[in-house]
Amino acid sequence: MTAPSVSLRHDEARQRASLLDVTAYEVELDLASSDATFASRTTLRFTSEGGPTFVDVKPRELRSATLNGSRLDPGTLDRGRLPLVTAAGENELVVDAVMAFRTDGEGLHHHTDPADGRRYVYGMSFMDAAPSVFACFDQPDLKAPYTFTVRAPRDWTVTGNAPGREVEPGLWRFDESQPLSTYFVTLVAGPYHHLRDSHDGIGLGLSCRQSIARHLEADADELFTLTRQCFDEFHRLFGIRYPFGDYHQAFVPEFNAGAMENPGCVTFRDPLVFTSRVTRGTRIQRATTVAHEMAHQWFGNLVTPRWWDDLWLNESFAEYMGNRVTADVTEYGDAWVHNAHRRRQWGLVADQRPTTHPVAGNGATDAAGALQDFDGISYAKGSSVLKQLNATLGDEVFLAGAVDHFTRHRFGNATMHDLVGSWERAGAGDLSAFVEGWLRTPGVDDLRLDRAAGAVLRVPPAAHPADRSHTVRIATAEPDGEWEVHATTLAAPSTPFAVGPATAVVIDAFEDSWSRSAPDAATLVALPALLRQGGDPMLCAGVWNSLRTGVHTGAVSPAEATEVVVAGLGTEEDDDGVTVVGGWALGRLRAVVDDPDALDAGVHRAAGEVLARATPASTLQLAAFGLRVTSSADPAALRGWLAGEGLPPGLELDEAVRWRILLRLAVLGEVDAAFLDDRLDEAPTAVARVEHARARAALPTAEAKAWAWRRFTGEDTAPNYEVEAAGLAFWQRGQEDLTDPYVERYVTGVPRLGDVFSGWLLGDVVEAFFPLTARRPDVVERTRALAAQPDLPGPVRRRVTDMADELERRL
Ligand SMILES: [Zn+2]
Repeated sequence: MTAPSVSLRHDEARQRASLLDVTAYEVELDLASSDATFASRTTLRFTSEGGPTFVDVKPRELRSATLNGSRLDPGTLDRGRLPLVTAAGENELVVDAVMAFRTDGEGLHHHTDPADGRRYVYGMSFMDAAPSVFACFDQPDLKAPYTFTVRAPRDWTVTGNAPGREVEPGLWRFDESQPLSTYFVTLVAGPYHHLRDSHDGIGLGLSCRQSIARHLEADADELFTLTRQCFDEFHRLFGIRYPFGDYHQAFVPEFNAGAMENPGCVTFRDPLVFTSRVTRGTRIQRATTVAHEMAHQWFGNLVTPRWWDDLWLNESFAEYMGNRVTADVTEYGDAWVHNAHRRRQWGLVADQRPTTHPVAGNGATDAAGALQDFDGISYAKGSSVLKQLNATLGDEVFLAGAVDHFTRHRFGNATMHDLVGSWERAGAGDLSAFVEGWLRTPGVDDLRLDRAAGAVLRVPPAAHPADRSHTVRIATAEPDGEWEVHATTLAAPSTPFAVGPATAVVIDAFEDSWSRSAPDAATLVALPALLRQGGDPMLCAGVWNSLRTGVHTGAVSPAEATEVVVAGLGTEEDDDGVTVVGGWALGRLRAVVDDPDALDAGVHRAAGEVLARATPASTLQLAAFGLRVTSSADPAALRGWLAGEGLPPGLELDEAVRWRILLRLAVLGEVDAAFLDDRLDEAPTAVARVEHARARAALPTAEAKAWAWRRFTGEDTAPNYEVEAAGLAFWQRGQEDLTDPYVERYVTGVPRLGDVFSGWLLGDVVEAFFPLTARRPDVVERTRALAAQPDLPGPVRRRVTDMADELERRL
């Protein structure tokens, strides 16, 4: 772990930006001498108004620092900051340090592939990790070009933000990059497997670990095709060419986020190289991630938020444009349906938490605090709000505003006000009501049918009153009838909408607006038959989301929801629908039903119904079989499947299916730790290690729970994915006798976790190990009190607060 450091505050960033202008970075790294540390020498050239400031550097050892030829005292380095007194005019700072490789997915992450022992490295400078790679003024609005020189083992390749080449064995030199924010700077170094292509004058690359190379080869055509299609569409929409040279997409191990948009060298989590068969929904997820990162080359990389409070300028746009471009120009025309299944609830739930925040201007006072806003609000809600704005303004004005923004702030930084100004110049008119209602006010309106009054009511959250108009489609169906769709604008607190006493009504059924709406009693009665009719997949997704909203808000009882799922899921046509709704039923819904075994049995039957009509070897079959396994209470059937017996025709017993069966057997207590260890030893891939951790933590034994808990406390160190998997599987309904003692250990352990984990992983661990199955009022109280402890880091407090809210809802 790195030494403790302080997080940069917004006022400090403003002050430093007004003092300095960074001209260039030259960074020399030696990755060849050790697998624990690397040498890092940075030459920073900058101009200054003259005066005191500091450079960010988080080394294992600071060897020397020289400012304008004078040695600085390394002993003055304090929590990641080295004080400087700059001269007016030109300055040159040289910092020579020894840095530690990290294993938490940040800084320069070092990974040894369990499959073959090969070592891999990649850089993740986001959000504040750059100073653990090189000395820098680490804030988004001090951009500068970078020139890298890297010494690496001779069998490695090194890829970065600018074109580079091996000038002598093991020595790599890179061209000067375009101006970059510190958080974009990356390197991907190791014996990676590379694939190359080009399109429209842009060199394209793909890379991954050797042990999964054949799987990348198998999908290379799909990935290159997506990349070409997206480039063409972004160029058509913006009329501004991609400005960062080559476009390399590296799939890297143990990456925390889905991907990171580093200019010229995007990094993706490498489970996105599919080593087992996946559903179409999972392929769409990867496609929208590819498109999302490409959208960032404009929104984020060409023009960058001045500070983290405008995170949405990055994420909301990339999310909206990523979905839109995937739907419009790739083979995944149903990307918005996928978005409805996988992203909508993420945003809605976050926007209903006590910790909700506005899309724009989230008020991040320091960099570490902003990390907590990488949530469903910045992504899913922001995307939805931009989609609405696009529908209101029309493409011409919407895109003209974006292009004006890119042109004015090219390779620079900007704020929300700059973008709104660009839109207004492009002809959008006065956007202040839109900005205030949708971007600056948190919370989601509840849209409710008042049958007796013949009206749809618009109810803003009490804590965040607002007057927002919703242009939506309302789906209605008479008993035994088919869906009819009515376009309506809900511009007032009450809008006339008369229906019969038994008419099914789903408000905002196509998710045109950012709203929540639960089915009422009459609608619930009609939903199973309507779901069995099938029809528009977007409408089906909207219906499922209304049911999930109903359970989340308490408007629909767990028993009512169970009835709809069990009766309606068997005819679902979309593999994402089967996976996501089934997964929600066996997770969130199962946690609150009175009879979880009956729910399992009902989902098992519904999954069997899907299986019976699914084409052999189809992804619908794969999704249904997954659900069949996870809902199974029949150890003999599970063991048979594990041995390859009784599998549906065309279904392959690959690594993912095998570990899914093993996990279910583990939850049921039908295998022991030694058995799981042996299965891992047979094929110890990175995927298998994670799934092994998950299955072991799920075993109903005291030994297994102690094994998992040592990963939480840091007594046993494990890579980030394995720690998280162990946490997510630890709390199983029905194992309370074993897990109840850990509630107290969680509460006392969380405040010390900052000594063990940092950054992304810290928040993920806090959430993954939260005692969600301990459904008791005293646990809500205990965890609330924990969240209120004054010295808790912001991201930890946020996760504990959210999870305590979730636990209370489950009560
Ligand atoms: Zn993004």
